[in-house]
Amino acid sequence: MRFENYVAEQFDDIRILRYQVPAFERLALKEKLFVYYLSRAASAGRNILWDQNNRYNLAVREVLEKVLREYKGNRDCDEFRAFTVYAKKVFFANGIHHHYSMDKFTPLFSPDYFRMLLEETGQADKYGALERVLFDAGYMAKRVVLDEGKDLVQASANNYYQGVTQKEAERFYAGREQHGDTPVSWGLNSTLVKAEGEIKEEVWKVGGKYGEIIENIVYWLELAKAYAYNERQAKIIELLVAYYRTGDLALFDAYSIEWLQEKEAPVDFINGFIEVYGDPLGLKGSWESVVEIVDEEACRRTEKLAENALWFERHAPVEERFKKSVVSGITARVMQVAQLGGDCYPATPIGINLPNSEWIRERHGSKSVTFDNITYAYDRASLNSGVTDEFAYSEEEKELARRYGYLAGNIHTDLHECLGHGSGKMLPGVTTDVLKNYYSTLEEARADLFALYYMMDPKLVELGIMPSAEVGKCEYNSYIRNGLLVQLTRIKPGDKLEEAHMRNRQLIAKWAYEQGQAAGVIEKINEEGKTYFVVRDYGALRELFGRLLAEVQRIKSEGDYEAARKLVETYGVEVDRRLHEEVLRRYGKLNVPPYAGFINPEYRLVKENDRIVDVAIVYPEDYLQQMLAQ
Ligand code: ZN
Repeated sequence: MRFENYVAEQFDDIRILRYQVPAFERLALKEKLFVYYLSRAASAGRNILWDQNNRYNLAVREVLEKVLREYKGNRDCDEFRAFTVYAKKVFFANGIHHHYSMDKFTPLFSPDYFRMLLEETGQADKYGALERVLFDAGYMAKRVVLDEGKDLVQASANNYYQGVTQKEAERFYAGREQHGDTPVSWGLNSTLVKAEGEIKEEVWKVGGKYGEIIENIVYWLELAKAYAYNERQAKIIELLVAYYRTGDLALFDAYSIEWLQEKEAPVDFINGFIEVYGDPLGLKGSWESVVEIVDEEACRRTEKLAENALWFERHAPVEERFKKSVVSGITARVMQVAQLGGDCYPATPIGINLPNSEWIRERHGSKSVTFDNITYAYDRASLNSGVTDEFAYSEEEKELARRYGYLAGNIHTDLHECLGHGSGKMLPGVTTDVLKNYYSTLEEARADLFALYYMMDPKLVELGIMPSAEVGKCEYNSYIRNGLLVQLTRIKPGDKLEEAHMRNRQLIAKWAYEQGQAAGVIEKINEEGKTYFVVRDYGALRELFGRLLAEVQRIKSEGDYEAARKLVETYGVEVDRRLHEEVLRRYGKLNVPPYAGFINPEYRLVKENDRIVDVAIVYPEDYLQQMLAQ
């Protein structure tokens, strides 16, 4: 039975959705137990992420939770409602900074009211330390600062560096890059601290920083190990546990290599310090976890892409010297998410391609997973939101979106994750860190361009992946619409683009619009005060995507920082003020929050006479209740 309603609630700029896991019911008991224990491990590291995001986050959460649980006064008033919304936002963002814009958000209740709530719940002593943290918007204003010319480490409010300048951090890690041709990801699992003039790492491991939390993660992982599908999966868990115990980054690489090769098991998982978007220097990994179950049917599509990976690499419009001659180990699996944790919860990506280590990707390949029960929930929830109707120009464009939008989005994601990120190679001696704060944007642009270029290729129809080129046209329309208009709903008036994916989408769309302007490839139309971007020549647009892909691949392969900077700063950062205001006005009328996240299902052991006979899945509907239960 499919849910009737995928939207649980909405507040401020956020919608809370639910996702279903039909694949869980089809698992054998052993596999269900594996999911159960991995889910516990996925929830166990939550506090690490909170502390990584900002050093006050855990203190703030403790205070908010106590008020929500214990406050006996009037709850039926505007100020308490404002308090509840603030708490929900903090839970959603895993801290006091917006999960996407990374800006600190401030409460709509007064400091006096907050002081009263703390007094009433026996927490009056906490007020002094938290007043500025909550109410002073300029204090620790942004979690990740990427503005050119600033000390990015000192300006960012994350908790990865303590008392260290950007120069000191860069110098600290610069000397460590040269260790052979299998360099570990230095800095990935530690806080860099300056104490008494000395700079050192506090490593996140059992017995180290976050030691107790990591011990708990290890506890659940070891219970899960007994239910691993095969020897390799048991070994994957062993390596991960060994890494968590020692902090040895070479063990993390060994784990990653085993993990990317595991393609048999019906249940898979990610657990660790993985993505580096939360660090302006792109070194520190935020803690995250996802537990997933394979969706056999949907997998057939990505298997076809993977089988033909070399064909795509050969036909890519990039210089031969930047191409891989062997495309190894591209694994594309379509999964249903069973549990989200850490930096993937409640807001989640719709696909993941790992590992991030460049030499592992080149030598061993990578594994792509896409989460199709998540995209399905998004699609169901947005079907009647009216956004496409507002920003698409013609009836034809709207009809195309209705018919192929879900499929086109999925194929784009598959191409991006399975082939895009895994394509291309670095020139000898070049490492990605030279692109610094522009790396993430460039890398996302590269994967998107690879996907866009092939969305219009007859090969996809030939392989039976899409029924006709109409699907590709649908994707081109929506990409341009989103990159130049719709995604602007996610930022506030006056703001610039900060987030890597947003920067990359505008970069591509704006560059293509400008480059094709003379030939009329994309037409800008203004009608009754509404702006539209309409694709007029799909073939020419494809050529433009190909040209930009060649350039972005060159920049990455050669490590051309200056070109990266110029491209991103010219096309991916600045926002057209007037257009932005218009978009916000149009979007505002639809009353659809721009961000979404998910309530997790919960798993319960079913026992008969102390023997576990089943694992039941339940789907909670109350967001706040789930947040408070953790
Ligand atoms: Zn990506």
